[in-house]
Amino acid sequence: MSGQGDVGETLLSVEAALQRILAAVATLDDEEVDATTAAGRVLAEDIAAPFDVPPFPNSAMDGYAVRAADTAGATGDHPVELRVRADIPAGDIGSAVVRPGEASRIMTGAPLPPGADAVVPVEATDEPWTRTDRPLPGRVRIFRVATPGAHIRQAGEDVRQGQTVLRRGIRLRPQEIGVLAALGWPRVRIVRRPRVAILATGDELVEIDQPLGPGQIHDSNSYVLAALVERTGGVPLRLGIARDRLEEVRTRLRTGLEQGADLFLSSAGVSVGAYDVVRAAVDAEGEMAFWRVNMRPGKPLAFARVGTVPFLGLPGNPVSAAVAFEIFARPAMLKMGGRTALARPRVEAILDEPVWSDGRESYLRAVVTRRDGRYHAVITGPQSSGMLTSLVRANALLVVPAGVREVPAGAILWAQMIDWPEEVF
Ligand code: AMP
Ligand code: MG
Repeated sequence: MSGQGDVGETLLSVEAALQRILAAVATLDDEEVDATTAAGRVLAEDIAAPFDVPPFPNSAMDGYAVRAADTAGATGDHPVELRVRADIPAGDIGSAVVRPGEASRIMTGAPLPPGADAVVPVEATDEPWTRTDRPLPGRVRIFRVATPGAHIRQAGEDVRQGQTVLRRGIRLRPQEIGVLAALGWPRVRIVRRPRVAILATGDELVEIDQPLGPGQIHDSNSYVLAALVERTGGVPLRLGIARDRLEEVRTRLRTGLEQGADLFLSSAGVSVGAYDVVRAAVDAEGEMAFWRVNMRPGKPLAFARVGTVPFLGLPGNPVSAAVAFEIFARPAMLKMGGRTALARPRVEAILDEPVWSDGRESYLRAVVTRRDGRYHAVITGPQSSGMLTSLVRANALLVVPAGVREVPAGAILWAQMIDWPEEVF
């Protein structure tokens, strides 16, 4: 990557930076698991139906299987009377033929008997009772005309044999697991979860359970990043806190490699401070790609390889680190994890207040709500990249395009939804 990737002090657009990162990460290998444990995982194969679903025509109602032509003219006042031939519970295998003038009592999901081409629901008969402890009536009166196909689920009406039902790259939700089960597909190929090594760097940092000495703060970034990695379908590997010393950062990077990291995320140490050693450490362990992105927050960003493993050096400021994860690391992780759709849902939101930027592409922490059928946005107060609570209140990042410094109230901006929580009734 060296030579072609390093753009020095040139500002890279967010889009260009993202495209470079995506081009440099590959989808991980896949593995086979039981369908019962595959929920939430990413499908690595197309699933083509080995047979029709439903596999056979069956009744959609409890009722009577009839020949539709026999019900011609049936009304409540002038019912048609049919001889009841057989009883067909769900799972029945040897249904008797329904001949002209006949009906068979049939349960929901039971195979349609030969001869019948419609089902009359029990409610439209004088035998509104389908429990098996009710003796099979000898005759049934039909109060309603049945059209051919009425209340029948045709073979293959849900899925046709050979049809691709599920495509690789989707995240398996409960309903997709249900489709696998319906197809009798007990083992499924899924993409391995990305193992993401997370390194916090900084002499001022202490662990969550340690008291703060003078000049110290708790490391929050590695906790945020580990939680983001998990939420994005990855496995976080905590590399702890490295002091701002070259050897310490290098040692921890090597530990990450030994632990089988697929991606490195570090925080801090990539700006131009005297102790910003991450850049030098990565240079020593691998190859550096680029450094500055035209975005706010999160301008200093390193992309590199440690050995053969991609490395994203995120900024140190907590909001910058989290936003840079959202914009760069999340799509990269999704691609590695086999997903085909990488972008958050976006809505056009009306600004309820003016917002300002400095001309970089800005991601403002915002609260987006729906009012009168439209989306409205307000920012979550002070946008300092050190204030994590500005992100706590946010459900969206409001995107102010590069080159724009002021957007008046009433204008419309894209809001990238980072959460779409349930609403209070
Ligand atoms: P740096 O990139 O090292 O200049 O750090 C920028 C700011 O982020 C400084 O105020 C750091 O104290 C802060 N910072 C760096 N790492 C962390 C971390 N892991 N958790 C919370 N704040 C951090
Ligand atoms: Mg620092």
